[in-house]
Amino acid sequence: MKFVIAVDCEGPAGVVGAPGGTLNDAPAQYEFARRQATAEASAAARGLFAAGATQVIVWDTHGGGVNLVIDELDERCDLFHGANGGRLAMLDHTFAGLLFIGYHARDNTVAAPLAHTFSSTRYQWIKVNGREVGELAVDAAVAGTHSVPVIFFASDDKAVAEVKALLPGVATVTTKIGYSWNSALSKHPRRVLREIEAAVQAAVAQRSAVKPFTLPGPLEVEIRHKRIDTADEACLPVYGWQRVDAYTVKRTIQALTDLF
Ligand SMILES: [Zn+2]
Repeated sequence: MKFVIAVDCEGPAGVVGAPGGTLNDAPAQYEFARRQATAEASAAARGLFAAGATQVIVWDTHGGGVNLVIDELDERCDLFHGANGGRLAMLDHTFAGLLFIGYHARDNTVAAPLAHTFSSTRYQWIKVNGREVGELAVDAAVAGTHSVPVIFFASDDKAVAEVKALLPGVATVTTKIGYSWNSALSKHPRRVLREIEAAVQAAVAQRSAVKPFTLPGPLEVEIRHKRIDTADEACLPVYGWQRVDAYTVKRTIQALTDLF
């Protein structure tokens, strides 16, 4: 039984960033976030191995993909990290499930710490076939093309609500309650580790309850930019987007991996 744990850095317990920038612009918070993301991934891996996993690949997805503290990661895991390797490039139909640690709510969500969709400075929202999607939906759909279900998700309460609306039956742990983009009532980060380990172990037994999520093509992707100049740039012939309005562009693709 093989699994992939996709790990971002905004959703772990104890992470709220700081006003005026991304998580990476708040050095003390970033340093804590990458350690806690590593610890939460290790906790999930312990649950998977206790439930009979034979291979666990941890995927470092935040920014350039070199965030996790490798020395502190459970040594039974393999690590997929670095930039420009494609989304879930290591996944195929032989995997039993995908887990999310440290993901965050999509942009355009109120009271969700560090909510964004791929770029908090560039995009206001992304829609696929008229429905707003965040990073968790995109990665769940990429896994779905290989018939691999999402079996577990841990993050703040708004991201947990987002995943439950998208993937009924998925097991979750709430790490913190969001109050704004930069504030939360967080569980103690060490207590969350025990919750994740136990919930993941139980989720493996329930994994057949969750159907793989798919977004069959063709897909009309619409993106609302935060600035007109980046929308201008997207409409240059080399990028191929069409203008909808000053801030919004659209394009039709066959599969999400054509874009992300
Ligand atoms: Zn991130």
